[in-house]
Amino acid sequence: MKYEKEINRRKTFAIISHPDAGKTTLTEKFLLFGGAIQTAGAVKSNKIKKHATSDFMEIERQRGISVATSVMTFEYKDFLINLLDTPGHKDFAEDTYRTLTAVDSVVLVVDSVNGVEDQTRRLIEVCRMRDTPVIVFINKMDRDGKNRFDLLEEIEKELKLTLHPMTFPINSGKDFKGVYNLREKNLVLFTPGTRADSESVVIEDLTDPVLDKKLGEKDAETLREDVELIEGVYGDLDTEAYLAGQVAPVFFGSAVNNFGVKEMLDTFIDIAPVPRDRNTTLREVSAGEDKFSGFVFKIHANLDPKHRDRIAFLRVCSGKFERNKYYKHVRLDKDLRFSNPYSFMARSKDIIEDAYPGDVVGLFDTGNFKIGDTLTEGEKFYFTGIPSFSPEIFKELVNKDPMKTKQMEKGIAQLTDEGVAQLFTQYGGTKKIIGCVGELQFEVIQYRLLQEYGAAVEFRTLPFYKACWLSCNDGKMLADFMRFKQQNTGEDKDGNPVYLAQSEWFLNTEISNNPDIHFAFSSEVI
Ligand code: GDP
Repeated sequence: MKYEKEINRRKTFAIISHPDAGKTTLTEKFLLFGGAIQTAGAVKSNKIKKHATSDFMEIERQRGISVATSVMTFEYKDFLINLLDTPGHKDFAEDTYRTLTAVDSVVLVVDSVNGVEDQTRRLIEVCRMRDTPVIVFINKMDRDGKNRFDLLEEIEKELKLTLHPMTFPINSGKDFKGVYNLREKNLVLFTPGTRADSESVVIEDLTDPVLDKKLGEKDAETLREDVELIEGVYGDLDTEAYLAGQVAPVFFGSAVNNFGVKEMLDTFIDIAPVPRDRNTTLREVSAGEDKFSGFVFKIHANLDPKHRDRIAFLRVCSGKFERNKYYKHVRLDKDLRFSNPYSFMARSKDIIEDAYPGDVVGLFDTGNFKIGDTLTEGEKFYFTGIPSFSPEIFKELVNKDPMKTKQMEKGIAQLTDEGVAQLFTQYGGTKKIIGCVGELQFEVIQYRLLQEYGAAVEFRTLPFYKACWLSCNDGKMLADFMRFKQQNTGEDKDGNPVYLAQSEWFLNTEISNNPDIHFAFSSEVI
């Protein structure tokens, strides 16, 4: 393998959680360990506290200054770690789902007080679809949380995950004394408030009297019983099963106290997968191939309002990406080269000369890219499994300023390219319909159209609940259906026929009345 050394030192992952579980705090601790930042508080939360556009805009403004918040690259013990940020807010879940296609593993943060929450469930579903290996971090052990065994059971049951404890806590809340590292067989003591200076005590075995001295007899005895039980049930971690997405190692800790984080990070670099092979429409592409390939999983326009640039985030999947070299843009069948690709090291945008599998490269884009686009050295394929979402809320886009029609059209085209919303045109007309998964996105679109394109718009709610993509072997039959149902049909941005259903009842009726027409829901982009 030509680039074996580079590939084997890379780990690309995402931290996922329900908002407030501690994703930002944990990210920051990782970066501190990696030396990418020096002080706590340097990582800005990308979370939206309320349903408030201002929060989102504030975040966007900060991102304009530093896109490093989207992808964070740092080094730890000779490994190069790419940490991809995912928005926690459910209205932006689509962005998260797509980002998950660009990683090789995830760390899931669960709040020990709240246990499994809505977003946790959905995110794990996506990981399961792709057999993504998961490590679980049970956070906030310094708070009075649920009973640890109940919590493990809840996670296993609710998330349908098979867990494997790697550390085990001694109490929680104000009685939290630390964790026993089942792998290293040592005790890591928690001293609240000291932040990071956890004391690690090596013990011979569980009968070691040091245990009683450090924990008190009662807690030492409980720990002995717990560990005996756990070791009996779980045995040693089956790394292969973890890599296959079948078993999830679990760590307990407190991110804000930087407790239990290092234990996880050390295990992570040990067991987490290096860049994996990926499926395409043609064949499986191995990370170790000489020839370069990669795909775009995220696009962001106007990151810096002053420069009006648009960035496509490319995940390198195989070979070596090089600056100024021509690559095939498969969908456009066009050769493109990039003179200013950049990496996301620490907090600055650095122009890079090359990148390897697992890396994420930022490409300045003048409108060539869409989510799912593939670059290769000539071969024609697409990476599969990049989800396209099915919108759930539909509104008509109303132009309030006819003088700005051009700007509005340009703006809406660019913003929908980012994938936050979908644009439909009603059958035979010009009525523009925007479909999103969350209300917040409409506010964001309205705000950005005005700020970035000077176009004032309003939205008018439409009574649709689902968009279905239509296909049929008989072109005339499909055309007739579209015409006949013109109140409910239209085209997506790429001219594909779409049926907009008012209710489940209508949808089911149409499906059963038209057996030769195929109705597709949340389809993959490719
Ligand atoms: P995110 O929404 O998942 O990114 O969550 P944040 O990292 O912003 O954390 C949400 C809140 O939980 C913040 O106020 C953190 O200070 C707090 N927090 C994070 N980790 C811990 C922890 O281990 N213990 C306690 N008590 N609070 C924590």
